[in-house]
Amino acid sequence: MTDRRSFLKTTALGAAAAPALLHGCAPADAPQGAAAATGSSRAVRPVALSTWEHGLAANEAAWPILTSGGRALDAVEAGVRVPEADPDVTSVGYGGWPDRYGHVTLDACIMDEAGRCGSVAFLREILHPISVARQVMEKTPHVMLVGDGALDFAVKNGFERQNLLTENARRGWEQWKAENGEETPSISIDNHDTIGMLALDQAGNLSGACTTSGAAYKYHGRVGDSPIIGAGLYVDNEIGGATSTGWGEAVIRAVGCFLVVELMRQGHGPQAACELAVERVIAKNPDWRDIQVGFLALSKTGEVGSFCIAPGFDYAVYTPDEGNRLVDSGSRL
Ligand code: ASP
Repeated sequence: MTDRRSFLKTTALGAAAAPALLHGCAPADAPQGAAAATGSSRAVRPVALSTWEHGLAANEAAWPILTSGGRALDAVEAGVRVPEADPDVTSVGYGGWPDRYGHVTLDACIMDEAGRCGSVAFLREILHPISVARQVMEKTPHVMLVGDGALDFAVKNGFERQNLLTENARRGWEQWKAENGEETPSISIDNHDTIGMLALDQAGNLSGACTTSGAAYKYHGRVGDSPIIGAGLYVDNEIGGATSTGWGEAVIRAVGCFLVVELMRQGHGPQAACELAVERVIAKNPDWRDIQVGFLALSKTGEVGSFCIAPGFDYAVYTPDEGNRLVDSGSRL
C-alpha cells in the first residue's frame, strides 16, 4: 500500500544514486535504437521506470511485455492499470481521494514512440482512464477529452461506469470536511502521489503514461499537470521521456516534462536534466519550500535520472541486470 506521507521519507541515496544504477544497462554513447544489444540478438535491453512504490507493481506488469518483444506503449498502459485498479493506492484511480465535494475525478495521458498522444481529464466513474486516453489517441483526431465528453466517449467505447469512491476514501473526505469545512485545500507535500511511467522496449522505442486522481480535496473541476502533454508527461523517441509527480500547478508553470526532454536534447543527461528542471520550478514558484515536485526521466539509451524538491520521492526501476528496485530520488532540500 502506498503511504501518502512517503513524501516525507528521508532520502537515503541522494542524487548520485540514479546514474549509478544504470551501469550495465546501456552505455551513454550507444547509438540510438541500438543501446546495449543483448547477446546475439539486436534487441535493446528494456527498461521500465515508474514513480513511487506503487511503481514496483506497475513495472512487474509491464516487464513480460517488454521482455517478449512487445511495445513500450502496451507495457506502460498495462503497468499503470495496476495502481489504477488498486483500492489501496489512494492517489490513482479506484480508491483515490475525492475532490472537495466527494467526487473522484481522474486525469491521465499516454504518449507513444511516434509522438502520438491522448489524454483525458476530469473523468469520473471509469476505472481505467489510461485506456480511455489511449483510445482518444487511437480513435479520434483529438488529443484531449474532458469531463462529460470524456465519459461519453468512454461509455460509447465499451468502458463501464462504476463508483470509484471507496469506503476508506469516503471516510478520509468526511474527516477532511469536518476539519476544514469549505476551506480551500492548502498546498501540501503529502496529498498527492501520481503514477508516471516510462518504458524502453527491445525495438529501442520509448513510450510513457501518467494517471492520477490528482490533489486530494481539490476544487471540483481542478485539473493538474498529469494529463497535460508536456507538463506531466513528454516523450520524444529521438531523445527520451520524462514524467512528473507532485504539485501539478507548479509543474504546469514550468511545462516541466517538455523542459526535461528539451534539456536532454541540448546534451544534458537525464539526471542533470531533472535537476535543472527542478531549479526552473523553484524559480517559477515562490512557495517552492512548501510544495513537492519530482521528475523522472529515461533517455533513449536507457539511462535514468530523477530529482525532486523535498526528500521523500522514490521510484521503481526494472532492468535486466538489476531486477525491479525501489530507489530514493535525490532532492533539493
Ligand atoms: N501531479 C498530480 C496533480 O497535481 C498529483 C500527484 O503527483 O500526485 O494532480
